[in-house]
Amino acid sequence: MTRQAFVAGATSALLIPQVEIAEARTKPISMLPTSSTRRFAWTVDDGVSGSALKAYLDIAEHKNQHLTLFVTSGYSSWRNNSKQILRLIKAGKVQLGNHTVMHKDLTTVSSAVIRKELQGCHKFLLEEFDYDARPYFRPTYGSWNANLLKIAAELGYTAPITWYGSLGDTGTATQAHIVQQANKWIANGRILLCHANRNKAPETLNQILNIIQTRKLHSVTLREAFGANFK
Ligand SMILES: [Zn+2]
Repeated sequence: MTRQAFVAGATSALLIPQVEIAEARTKPISMLPTSSTRRFAWTVDDGVSGSALKAYLDIAEHKNQHLTLFVTSGYSSWRNNSKQILRLIKAGKVQLGNHTVMHKDLTTVSSAVIRKELQGCHKFLLEEFDYDARPYFRPTYGSWNANLLKIAAELGYTAPITWYGSLGDTGTATQAHIVQQANKWIANGRILLCHANRNKAPETLNQILNIIQTRKLHSVTLREAFGANFK
């Protein structure tokens, strides 16, 4: 079967309406489609830290960056920043993606837990932001297998997104290391991973903005890059 073939979504009728959805991909997406413009997708995950999330929202709002936020709905930062997020969604500067409720490694849990994690975040995004994130989701830890991609696709999450390069913004990473990783990975066509967690990345954002400007790049959301009808 080709990806144009359709499978029925084994989903609960109200929460995730039965829709005709594309067949599961065989692997995640880590690059943007080619384009005549110089662009990269800036993606921000998790949301452990409300102040880090706010720092990213502020560069979307005031520095004209377009971000895809992969929401882990178990963290309160999303609800706490909901007004600004809603404003930025409306302005077309922010896209939301599904990054589960509890950030479990979905290759180590049952199929029922995979469904619960993806549906729980889906429901949160609908309730809090009136936002349907499908088809975009990011496997936690970038960890995936065929069963995860199949179950996610049954729920309408047919676009598993990993990344081409990461800021390496763990809690112990220095500012210098994060800037070095930004220099290494920010380039045309790339999907960049970073985290709204307790790390030093928010303190490097001005330097990262300089890198983007020097390289004559602009950041796009995944929806902008792949198009509104992408499945
Ligand atoms: Zn994550």
